[in-house]
Amino acid sequence: MTTTYGHLTWEDVRDADKNRVVILNVSATEDHGPHMPLDTDTVLGMAVAEGVARSAPEEVFVMPPVPYGFNEHHKDFPGVIWIQPETLIAFVTDITKSLAHHGFRRILLLNSHGSNHPCLDLAARKTVIETGIICVSASYWNLMSARINEIRKSEIGGIAHAGEFEAAMYMHLHPDRVHIEKSVTQNLHDPKSKFFNLDLAGKGGGAMLMRWWSEQSPDGTMGDPTVADPETGKRFLEAAIEETTALVREIRALPILSRRDHH
Ligand SMILES: [Zn+2]
Repeated sequence: MTTTYGHLTWEDVRDADKNRVVILNVSATEDHGPHMPLDTDTVLGMAVAEGVARSAPEEVFVMPPVPYGFNEHHKDFPGVIWIQPETLIAFVTDITKSLAHHGFRRILLLNSHGSNHPCLDLAARKTVIETGIICVSASYWNLMSARINEIRKSEIGGIAHAGEFEAAMYMHLHPDRVHIEKSVTQNLHDPKSKFFNLDLAGKGGGAMLMRWWSEQSPDGTMGDPTVADPETGKRFLEAAIEETTALVREIRALPILSRRDHH
């Protein structure tokens, strides 16, 4: 049976192994500096999801992605499509409730856009409360921080948005769409800060302030794309696929528990 949800027939869905993990990538359509396209988060998130499907073809289904996210703070850059957080949570929860209605028991909301993280956390929690099935949310870079730091060439602060990590993976997948010669370094990391961190694999980050993107970055970049190369991108992507596959296997092994109402 195919792993591509959209290629299934309704009879396939009826007969499918409902303990396969259904992966829903949620991303964004937004500025990624002068060097990368608006669809960066969707291309990378789906490359991870489809890589997991290739490495575990009996264990997952991959949904069509949600290519829009919570990013109104980016709207000073032309091309950004933003979704209100309440809308995004409601939309994703309608998808997960549909899957639960058809009998699926294990869902992974695979996030590939930073600011979706709290929305998908809430959508997963709402799904559990409203359906009783297992619904997990994860931003894929958080599954692989140690591996990112082994592979990276940039300093801390070099991997935030349209920086080394995303640029290298997109160059590996579609070198013709990345114009790395237009990129410049914008490392906004403050090494003196104890609580603020925007590097995707950095330490700290106990406090969060999300300013308007145009206040922080002149061209939309946050990080150091100038050191990106496709070989490093291949290693980042392979690590992302391995770690996400390991997460899928943990989700498949989770027991289905029963509530006890103590009233
Ligand atoms: Zn991105």
